[in-house]
Amino acid sequence: MQNLSFPKCLKCNEGVLIPLSDYGRGGATIHFKAWVCNNPSCHFQIRIDNGEVSVLDTIASKKRLK
Ligand SMILES: [Zn+2]
Repeated sequence: MQNLSFPKCLKCNEGVLIPLSDYGRGGATIHFKAWVCNNPSCHFQIRIDNGEVSVLDTIASKKRLK
């Protein structure tokens, strides 16, 4: 069975990336603000903050893409 709805996690190749939404100032919904791997042993995460993309491999290390 393949999960067809979400992109596969490129780090662990086991989990899928689940989109998370957030609420901005004024209550507007921000869709797909962050994507997180659903594999508990992976925790790969991509976040978008104010247009800047951050990749979080683990809680300890954080890399900026730009
Ligand atoms: Zn993963």
